[in-house]
Amino acid sequence: MSTHRVLVANRGEIAVRIIRAAHLLGWEAVVPYSDADQDALWVDLADDAVHIGKSPASQSYLDSEKLLDAAKSTDCDLVHPGYGFLSERPSFAQAVVDAGLVFVGPDADLISTMGDKAAARRAAQAADVPVVPGSEVLTDKDEALRVADEIGYPVLVKASAGGGGRGIRLVESAEELPGAMSTAQSEARSAFGDDAVYLEKVIERARHIEVQVIADTHGNVVHAFERDCSVQRRRQKLLEEAPAADLSDDLRESMTAASIRLAQAVGYIGAGTVEYLVEEDHFYFIEMNTRIQVEHPISEEICGIDLVAEQLLAATGEKLSVKQEDLVVQGVAFEFRINAEDPDNDFFPSPGELTRFDLPAGPGVRIETGYVAGGVVAPYYDSMLAKVIVHGRDRAQAIARSIQALTELRIEGVVTTRDVHLRLLRDSAVARGPVSTSWLEDFLADPDANH
Ligand code: ADP
Ligand code: ADP
Ligand code: MG
Repeated sequence: MSTHRVLVANRGEIAVRIIRAAHLLGWEAVVPYSDADQDALWVDLADDAVHIGKSPASQSYLDSEKLLDAAKSTDCDLVHPGYGFLSERPSFAQAVVDAGLVFVGPDADLISTMGDKAAARRAAQAADVPVVPGSEVLTDKDEALRVADEIGYPVLVKASAGGGGRGIRLVESAEELPGAMSTAQSEARSAFGDDAVYLEKVIERARHIEVQVIADTHGNVVHAFERDCSVQRRRQKLLEEAPAADLSDDLRESMTAASIRLAQAVGYIGAGTVEYLVEEDHFYFIEMNTRIQVEHPISEEICGIDLVAEQLLAATGEKLSVKQEDLVVQGVAFEFRINAEDPDNDFFPSPGELTRFDLPAGPGVRIETGYVAGGVVAPYYDSMLAKVIVHGRDRAQAIARSIQALTELRIEGVVTTRDVHLRLLRDSAVARGPVSTSWLEDFLADPDANH
């Protein structure tokens, strides 16, 4: 196998994760870094590092020209975008290719189609994958009112270009719709540079279950089963579990088959996630993320795949190193997002110096982080400090190991989400089985009620 040099166009735990995957393949990895990140762990782990600018992301990790210059000046032949930042910008994927380098992910046109939720819904329908009842992109308010009447309230106004839980508004009645549409459009324009919005029926008490797929350029497409990401606040994931508890074999089979069908229909290359809402025995496509996802490690734990290594292989035209029949679910895995956020203050970011940063260990415990003790959580970037990933033989063992690991995790200097996780595991419906996407917010609003 030939060797390669990959520029990791990202920071934090995912930069560390990608460097390790590259090294395991015998490749080299180069990282760009901003002022705030000059002493970071991933700068230390990489084979080379290039200072690219000031701390704000707009002057560093979102500056595609600086990233491409860094790749070229260090002789990289690939660029891995990680998640967030430029990972889902078609223009960046294209610029990488135009510079004569390989982009680790699907091509710009595919990112563009799937990044537009209304277009992605059409692609799903064309592949015979059920979507949430909803509309095309709407600009006319009277038409929106007609469509919403047909769908039935409550409905969501969703930004077609939205992501990260942003750009979604709940509308309970016709009176609220015109105003909600205007605010959603202007918010979408300023957040995503695109004011297209559409409507979706609200699927109440649904679970968020997503299927991991990975495809190579030789026509091989495999899935690595599903993850349940229903524990959310503000439509953002807090903890995830694989496989989804109490999911019938029939539903699992239909959802994984639908995901492979969609990947094949659009000619997908690389790792991708097909997200669904599940209500009883129905599933509805909501979107596809064309990148590695934050919660990918739980899928790796339950079936032994290295998703980042497979992404790198697929990008260089190699075959996937696994076949579908090699992937068998063993046990249960959880991921806990440890964020520097204050749960008592609406999960507001809590930057600062990590005066203590003691990480847990033990059977089945895996940590993904970009931090070390003494490090500083800068206010410029995502507030995720670490992911605690725990694997057990079954759900009970995974939960017992998780409680132990989270108890051993000691972080001082910033407020974190650790205690919320412990509370969920010790004494809530999450410990007993599946919950819906609205469950956590109800629980946080009134923790003493019977949840
Ligand atoms: P994933 O879809 O991989 O589970 P999330 O849904 O948590 O990840 O977030 C989607 C994307 O938005 C990720 O790429 C993440 O980096 C980014 N993101 C998450 N939270 C924030 C935030 N508070 N601000 C900006 N970007 C965020
Ligand atoms: P993003 O691109 O921000 O990840 P998604 O379309 O994936 O947006 O939706 C994020 C979350 O919002 C879902 O996991 C779910 O909790 C909620 N959501 C989205 N669409 C619906 C819907 N039609 N009904 C109910 N909840 C929804
Ligand atoms: Mg999503």
